[in-house]
Amino acid sequence: MGNIANSITFVFDAWRGQVSDPGKQFLFAAMLLLLAAHMGWRSSWSRRAIDAVESVKATLAIFLINALLAPAVWLLSEQFKALYALLGIPSVPGSVWEGLPVWLLSLIAIVAQDFANYWNHRAMHLKWLWPVHAIHHSDPVVNGLTAYRIHILEALVMWGSYTIMLTWLGMPADAIGIGALFLTLHNVYIHINVDWGHGPLRLLIASPRFHRWHHADVPEAHGKNLANVIPLFDWLFGTYRVPGPCDAPVGAAGVPRNDVVKLTLWPLLQWARQATLWVEAVRARIVGWRPGQDDALRHQD
Ligand SMILES: [Zn+2]
Ligand SMILES: [Zn+2]
Repeated sequence: MGNIANSITFVFDAWRGQVSDPGKQFLFAAMLLLLAAHMGWRSSWSRRAIDAVESVKATLAIFLINALLAPAVWLLSEQFKALYALLGIPSVPGSVWEGLPVWLLSLIAIVAQDFANYWNHRAMHLKWLWPVHAIHHSDPVVNGLTAYRIHILEALVMWGSYTIMLTWLGMPADAIGIGALFLTLHNVYIHINVDWGHGPLRLLIASPRFHRWHHADVPEAHGKNLANVIPLFDWLFGTYRVPGPCDAPVGAAGVPRNDVVKLTLWPLLQWARQATLWVEAVRARIVGWRPGQDDALRHQD
């Protein structure tokens, strides 16, 4: 009981620290500015105004949930780090990076993080992790704010893995900070509703057109364009697909669109459903397998 109370106090203090830190206040102010900029953004407000308002409201609510739970995420990533030190895994000494300019170090941090992100994202599109990632794809009106429509579990996995990787690499804190700021701003940029394709630089830096295709809800686009920053990773690993301007519908069929409560519980509900189907399939196999029975079960999915 004392432990639970301690954890709550710790999270509350960490949260208070976030709000009172001038650096964080700057970030919150920047987010408000982005929101204001978005409100003036042409298409999403003029074309399908009601859909857009609902989408923005839902995204802000999800972002708020994450902001409130962020200290808990941070607490867990600290525990990850402690575990990693405890296991005594040898890491890259910080001296390797001495003498290199900050811009180069930031670039290395961005490439390393984006490589990890590519594989994280690829895993997120597999059957058992999709219910978590589906929240990001649920936005029926993809816009700059969609970058913040992330389930708390996804934020946990992403930031946990980056913390482990960057600390393992021994990267200096300022390079990690600059890299993270760039990644955040670029992530907002690729979600805005414009058809910019980046011409000859299209494989080096992700464009809004590239990422809009990732959100397209058509079978040929599913699981494509997974890199956040460097589309070259998609090109190398066979998931690059940008046939031209994206006019396909965006969103995720079968996933609640803007219902925040349902979206937050969605992974739990879907896992329960998937586990039930799995148990039924195993039971059917044990009780007596007949040809065609497996197929019948699979078709219920
Ligand atoms: Zn995705
Ligand atoms: Zn996205």
